Amino acid sequence: MTKNKRFNIDTICVQGGWQPENGGPRQLPIYQSTTFKYDSTEQMARLFDLEESGYFYSRLSNPTNDAVAGKICQLEGGHAAMLTSSGQSANLFAILNLCQSGDHFVCSNAIYGGTYNLFSVTLKKWGIDLTFVPINATVEEISAAVQPNTKLVFAETVTNPTVEILDIEVFAKAAHLNGIPLVVDNTFPTPVNCRPIEWGADIVVHSTTKYLDGHAATVGGCIVDGGHFDWEAHPERFASLVEPDPSYHGLSYTKAFGKDAFIVKATAQLMRDLGSAQSPHNAFILNLGMETLHLRMQRHCENALKVATFLEQHPKVAWVNYAGLPSSPYHELAKKYMPKGICGVVSFGLKGERQDAVTFMDKLELISIVTHVADLQSCILHPASHSHRQMTDEQLLEVGIKPDLIRLSVGIEDGNDLLEDIEQALN
Ligand SMILES: *Cc1c(COP(=O)(O)O)cnc(C)c1O
Repeated sequence: MTKNKRFNIDTICVQGGWQPENGGPRQLPIYQSTTFKYDSTEQMARLFDLEESGYFYSRLSNPTNDAVAGKICQLEGGHAAMLTSSGQSANLFAILNLCQSGDHFVCSNAIYGGTYNLFSVTLKKWGIDLTFVPINATVEEISAAVQPNTKLVFAETVTNPTVEILDIEVFAKAAHLNGIPLVVDNTFPTPVNCRPIEWGADIVVHSTTKYLDGHAATVGGCIVDGGHFDWEAHPERFASLVEPDPSYHGLSYTKAFGKDAFIVKATAQLMRDLGSAQSPHNAFILNLGMETLHLRMQRHCENALKVATFLEQHPKVAWVNYAGLPSSPYHELAKKYMPKGICGVVSFGLKGERQDAVTFMDKLELISIVTHVADLQSCILHPASHSHRQMTDEQLLEVGIKPDLIRLSVGIEDGNDLLEDIEQALN
């Protein structure tokens, strides 16, 4: 792939990232090495001082991981990117790179359960506070939640498990009016279906564990910086990026690294100190998965629309939420931000009691009950009985999850086989 030409998404899925040299290996090599050799102590010292770029220890960076992060960066139309050991660590690092104890951020209330715990329990214990706003909040409502110590706005582009769609431009506008960046979790649509940076998002995070890997084989995460946010325009608010870092002899990330400042700081400071590096072997598997991402997403969306359409007209089904359906309140937003399709996840409820969901799921034969979501095999989860079983119906409703909500992650099997399985279980 020639560096300068901008290729289409499908081509980047197949060939982005690793670029073999003449006579070099065609497939991405796994640099299964903790460390890298140098001839002089002086060069090694320059690497430690961030005066020269190069690999020296795989907790900070590794060539295999960099090639894979490079592919995701190209897919998102970003400027710089890094892999992390999980989606949780990607979200954690994105926040910690901007917030310290005493700081605050604004967050959409429709977010993944694991992110909710991280933000509202663990980060609070560490002195980082947040204010939730509805996913449908207006620019004024989001702005009203911003305080002098607010460092960012966070949201999911397509929410897990409720599959609601974010109005990215509204959140970006509110963030920018207040001089702070918008960080979005783009795990569910993937860059094949939605590229949030083009709509104003500044930082994009992923749980690569889901569709990007796609085969339920590796846990991983990624952070992509669009490179557009001007940290130096707000030097007091973003002092940790602009002002000297004592752990690097008083270096300023923005002055030394310009548009790379955010990712360099997250690598050189957070990854150095907290060590949530992805294994190069996992990065290799993630890359194999991404080579077919564009084909898989197409089939996921086709099958999900088929399943959602079937469920919607079934007499035992109370409601269906899939923004691909014209009846969905999110249909227009989905058409705008993700015209090729949304993702394979559909949520719905059955008529009857909380228990009826469990009976239905136990009768499924092809679709399996697992905690995972967004990989090529169809699977199903009832949050009220599984991931959120400690919560009462009232608590579930507070976080926007109806007690009867069933999350169906539609895979890439034959769509008719899936319909048959659902139909026999409903009957
Ligand atoms: C799964 C998920 C995460 C957490 O990712 P892990 O890789 O499981 O740590 C974060 N955000 C969203 C939207 C997810 O679906």
